[in-house]
Amino acid sequence: MDPRGFPISLPDFQRVFPNDAACAAYLEKLRWPDGFACPKCGKTGEPYRFPKRTSAVLRCRGCQTNTSLTAGTVMQASHMPLSLWFWGAYLVTTQTPGQSALQFQRQLGIGRYETAFQTLHKLRAGMVRPDRDAIGGHYPVEVDETLVGGRTRGEGRGVHHKATVVGAVEVRPRRDNKDRTAGGNQKQLAGKQCKRAVYAGRLRLRLVSGRGDEVLCAFVTENVTKGSVVRTDGWHGYDDLAKLGYDHDAAVLDGAPEKIEAHLPTIRRVFSNLKTWLSGTHHGVSQQHLQAYLNEYVFRFNRRFYPMTAFHSVLGLVVRAVSPTYEELYSGKWIHPAT
Ligand SMILES: [Zn+2]
Repeated sequence: MDPRGFPISLPDFQRVFPNDAACAAYLEKLRWPDGFACPKCGKTGEPYRFPKRTSAVLRCRGCQTNTSLTAGTVMQASHMPLSLWFWGAYLVTTQTPGQSALQFQRQLGIGRYETAFQTLHKLRAGMVRPDRDAIGGHYPVEVDETLVGGRTRGEGRGVHHKATVVGAVEVRPRRDNKDRTAGGNQKQLAGKQCKRAVYAGRLRLRLVSGRGDEVLCAFVTENVTKGSVVRTDGWHGYDDLAKLGYDHDAAVLDGAPEKIEAHLPTIRRVFSNLKTWLSGTHHGVSQQHLQAYLNEYVFRFNRRFYPMTAFHSVLGLVVRAVSPTYEELYSGKWIHPAT
């Protein structure tokens, strides 16, 4: 478990959710933090439970209506055991690189490849909706483009099937950075230089038709808060950013590669990791599906410090104000409503 109360490994996670009953109990507590209330007649109090039913269904003792715990979630009407859904959601939201259907099938011991594929597909659907709020504001934003995928195979020089991806990432200072500098221990600070003073904040990625100024400036205006510091290389496609209301910090045109690298280290690192993920996990992705993969990457990246939020989101779980934390579940402090 990490300090945020989220299991840090799959075995850990499986101890928290060892079986379908534990998952069902979690769903119930999430939906009715203060105890069951019938959605139809409103009657509260302990519902009737079906001990032998695999599906998680509760029956109101007043009006006899059955309520499914998975209604309105991605698990609705599924024949897959709840525990497999939970473990699958854990894997897709926390593991870097993300899962291919085959890895997923093997790791969870799912019998049929098609089942693994469908499940993964449904969990991913929750990750491919783009985050829409603008990034930047207090934080500077690095913007750059890169070419992704599409190896040339003997089609002659200059022919490629690579796709252009433009990205924007916030550069945030580490919280302990100021303290270290204020402490005045410069020697210690120098010794820690391998540990970066900044980290990547929120990310946006878009598949674009080229490096034209309209395309690039549209990406920035649609994703970055006006007035933010925007760092780019010297490419003229970004020339209008100051006019568009940004504090444009461009590297010198035709500057030395290492200087540009030093100007845009964060987005370059993001691109490098993105390419590793795309080629390693999915063995290259067709342009047709690339934007969906970019969205998935962004989803996981932006929630890497909030795995529980990501976990709830892919399962389609609505989280009320009060719900059991994993810590409560794990420590046994949380008491199952049925006991
Ligand atoms: Zn009822």
